[in-house]
Amino acid sequence: MEGLTLKQFSQTSPLSPGEMQPQIILLKGLPMVVAGATIAHELMHCWLFLQRFPELDEETEEGLSEVAAYTWLTDRINNPEVSKEETEVYI
Ligand SMILES: [Zn+2]
Repeated sequence: MEGLTLKQFSQTSPLSPGEMQPQIILLKGLPMVVAGATIAHELMHCWLFLQRFPELDEETEEGLSEVAAYTWLTDRINNPEVSKEETEVYI
């Protein structure tokens, strides 16, 4: 697992108690292309949470998140402005 999304509601914010605050945890030292795909995957989890999307079974939500990662990766592959060197950067 390269990333993880924590879905939580703020208990401590005095301005907006109960505010939805998803957090993404990303493994350090990943190749940029892996980190980007992982972030795209985790952002789909965040988006579903923030949209208050009806709860999905785990398999469906993971599948949607994988589509987001796949879309990000294919966009990178099909973008002629992405250099090979850039894909070899580690973050
Ligand atoms: Zn996931």
